[in-house]
Formats: sequence, C-alpha cells, structure tokens
Amino acid sequence: MKIIFASNNKNKVQEIQNQVPKSIEIVTLEEIGCTEDIAETGKTLEENAIIKANYITEKYGLPCFADDTGLEIDALNGEPGVYSARYAGEDKNAEKNMDLVLQKLENSVNRNAQFKTVIALNINNEQHLFKGIVIGKITNEKIGTNGFGYDPIFEAENLGKTFAEMTIDEKNKLSHRGRAVEKLVEFLVRYK
Ligand code: IMP
Repeated sequence: MKIIFASNNKNKVQEIQNQVPKSIEIVTLEEIGCTEDIAETGKTLEENAIIKANYITEKYGLPCFADDTGLEIDALNGEPGVYSARYAGEDKNAEKNMDLVLQKLENSVNRNAQFKTVIALNINNEQHLFKGIVIGKITNEKIGTNGFGYDPIFEAENLGKTFAEMTIDEKNKLSHRGRAVEKLVEFLVRYK
C-alpha cells in the first residue's frame, strides 16, 4: 500500500519510516512535487491535522495522513499547545522557542508537560483520527543534539534523559508520535 505523509519535516518522515512495515510505502510531499507550506489555521491539533490531510486528498486524490503535534506545559496553562511551531515568532525557530519556554519557567517548580500528536488519515472517502500522548518534564537547560523541535528540553517519563539524547528507535517506542503511528499502523495492516 502506498500512502502519502503530508509533511515536509524530514525528521518526522524519518521517524515514521522507521516504524512502518515494508508492506506500507510512505510517500513524502517532496516525492509528489508538493512544496507548499499548508497553512495551519485550526484552533486545535485535530483541526490542523484534518486541514493538512484534506488539502492533500483534495488536490492529489490519494490516501494520505497528516499529523499535528503540540507541547502542553502545565504551568503555562497548556501553552504552547497548538502554537508550538511558532511560539517565539513566525520564523518557527526551535532554539528561540526553547529559550522562551525556559525563560517562562525560570521560577517554576512545576515542570510537568506532555506532548500530544493527532494523526488524521484519509482513505477511500473515510477519515480516521489517531492520538498519542507522552507525559514528562521540561528540563532546566537544553541537553542532547538528536531529534528536533523541543526535544532537548523534554524529559519523557522520568527516564533521566531528554528526547534529544535518544536514538530514533528509543524515541519512537515512547513518544507521542510513535504511539499515534503505532495505532495508525495497526489500523492500516488490518485495512481491506
Ligand atoms: P507540527 O505542527 O506537528 O509540525 O508540530 C508543531 C511543533 O511542535 C514543531 O514545529 C516542533 O517545534 C514541535 N514538535 C513536534 N513534534 C515534536 C517532537 O517529536 N519533538 C520535539 N518537538 C516537536
């Protein structure tokens, strides 16, 4: 089965490719010649995932899935949430986003946070949503060089290391996206 993943984020594509069985071929937007930045105008992760998946399906008419992820920090009332990509500005700069989070949490004892991913799958005129969550803590400083986004400041499940200190396979086993992709794959391998 061939399925389009509606993202131009190479890190995400690599993470997801590592988790999917050989019977499912992931096709990237680059491979179908789609270089547009699909506007994420929704107010929730669900809305954004659906907007992205529907855009590709309407334009290319192929089975497709899209994900949207947010980092929700308890002491910041769930911020940055759906605005995670552009928390510190429109240039979507990961370093600036992390700096802003660390600055806002400077005097906070409560460092609890969670990553949430929603995947919207469009297949044969049906739409299905899959969700994955991982709880953790925001560290006091950036640690590690792997991954992307907020990985250097997110310690998952008291494991004593950040996502940026893990290999892709380690991260996939417990990450928000890893868990959502697991549900997507379970669905697709049974799909007739
Ligand atoms: P997106 O809209 O799903 O691309 O995610 C929004 C933002 O959340 C991204 O720009 C990243 O800053 C952040 N993000 C998404 N997934 C991850 C992850 O696995 N690790 C760290 N940050 C992430």
